[in-house]
Amino acid sequence: MSDKIGFIDGNSLDGELTCEVCIVGSGAGGAVLAARLAAAGKEVIVLEEGGHYTRADFHMREDEAFPMLYQESGARATKDLSIAILQGRAVGGSTVANWTTSFRTPESVLDQWARVHGVRELGVGALNPHWDEIEKRLSIAQISLEETNRNNRLLYDGCKAIGLEAKTTFRNTRNCFKSGYCGMGCPVDAKQSMNITYLPDAIAHGARVVSRCRVDRLVVEAGHVASAECTVLSSDDYGYAETPQRLRVRAKKFVLSAGAIGTPSILIRSGLSGGVVGRGTYLHPVIGVTARYKDPVEPFYGAPQSVASHALAHRGDKVGLFMETAPLHPMLAAISSSGFGPQHRAIMTELPHLAAHIALAIDGFHESETGGTVTVRPSGAPLVDYPIPPRIWEALREGLRTLIRLNLAAGADWVLSGHDPALRFSSERDLGQLDSAPFAPNRVNIFSAHIMGGARMGDDPARSVVRSSDCRHHSVSNLHIVDGSIFPTSLGVNPQETIYGIAQLMGDRMTQSWQ
Ligand SMILES: Cc1cc2nc3c(=O)[nH]c(=O)nc-3n(C[C@H](O)[C@H](O)[C@H](O)COP(=O)(O)OP(=O)(O)OC[C@H]3O[C@@H](n4cnc5c(N)ncnc54)[C@H](O)[C@@H]3O)c2cc1C
Repeated sequence: MSDKIGFIDGNSLDGELTCEVCIVGSGAGGAVLAARLAAAGKEVIVLEEGGHYTRADFHMREDEAFPMLYQESGARATKDLSIAILQGRAVGGSTVANWTTSFRTPESVLDQWARVHGVRELGVGALNPHWDEIEKRLSIAQISLEETNRNNRLLYDGCKAIGLEAKTTFRNTRNCFKSGYCGMGCPVDAKQSMNITYLPDAIAHGARVVSRCRVDRLVVEAGHVASAECTVLSSDDYGYAETPQRLRVRAKKFVLSAGAIGTPSILIRSGLSGGVVGRGTYLHPVIGVTARYKDPVEPFYGAPQSVASHALAHRGDKVGLFMETAPLHPMLAAISSSGFGPQHRAIMTELPHLAAHIALAIDGFHESETGGTVTVRPSGAPLVDYPIPPRIWEALREGLRTLIRLNLAAGADWVLSGHDPALRFSSERDLGQLDSAPFAPNRVNIFSAHIMGGARMGDDPARSVVRSSDCRHHSVSNLHIVDGSIFPTSLGVNPQETIYGIAQLMGDRMTQSWQ
């Protein structure tokens, strides 16, 4: 019960609230910003559509965790269903479900943002002091090779065996006993996610964090947001049903931190759909393999993501790639394995002996990679479309080839692709299959857990939604956006630490120029 102190269930509220700053969304961006503004003396309300869960709710069960913690119970996907999208929906946002990998933004990405997108006030020099502070608060530290599980160790060994660099990752954990269940909410509060760090910090400075409160739209009058109009969601059944309760929040300033799908859809529902709103959505599209080893791998135990290789991040004119692992629990394994009946059963029977490795395409760095779109359905719910261009299919094919090669080099008996039907590789001689394999929507499994862009920052109002100095909307004077939606491209690394850094920096800039 004590873990719940200070958090407010929307079901206990009705009518109207007022504050100085209303932040929509309590994930990586919203939580850090809330803590910074509250510490600066601002009266903050955070509105979150998901429920508030604590370690007592995390039972290491996929059937409970997916409806509890993920958008659309984990079944979110692009319009043509060809890309599965994992995104969080809870107090703490995607950080409650994420796998803890923490990277600062590569300097080359920030340089590109400055050069091509007019993002001039966001260099490494501005962000470094914030990252220093955040890394302390979230106990971000590099894991040793000895602490990695076998799934990750095989990625490391396989990379080395084919001549590619690989390193252990930095993780935001404290006293982690490496259960492997990060994706289902940490049962011992080892993961330093927003629900146990920056949101309690914000509450300690007087912020109110309201769960099960979905912002339907902002009411905009004469270039100014007057209020946020909200629907209170049911406290049963993981909060998908609407209640008749409505809430209106009035504030001097509003911040959208609803994530790279939620934020553009709120803008559209609020009549702020002009320009590039809902365009330039980047996903780090992911392709994966499962590889069978004689000795057990147990891909469901241990720190889920503790090795990464960026050896292919810069491939000249081609789309870059980076490689990591994915934890493989029974449900995720069943969904991501091809085939039906006996064929599917045969793969699932091998689960303890399977390694799962992924290659992520670094999208958005070529002018032809315009990314995906976010629009809204007639119901108001978001709809993501992401037609994969040929350049990215080429990268995914190369990523797959590399994953197969490194697993064979690490001693795998065989490697399966995510094609339908799956392709099987037992030696390098089998790689020729990739030349004729279909790389097309719904012919090979593609995923994303890194949703970025859709309301990007920049200096040109015709090509961006917010200015980069303080993330203020170009034409709505009291509206800011602080989350992954403001990225002009993807990153080439996992996004959480970039969002934390930007959120804290923007908190300071908003305070300095407060009117
Ligand atoms: C399974 C998984 C593993 C991942 N692993 C890693 C990792 O290891 N390292 C890493 O760096 N990144 C990882 N990520 C991604 C990372 O967590 C996200 O990029 C980051 O949390 C995004 O921050 P955000 O503030 O943009 O949005 P989020 O953290 O997603 O927060 C947005 C919040 O807004 C809420 N919201 C949306 N619409 C509304 C509305 N209308 N009203 C009220 N609230 C609303 C949502 O419910 C959500 O809680 C992972 C993500 C997932 C899902």
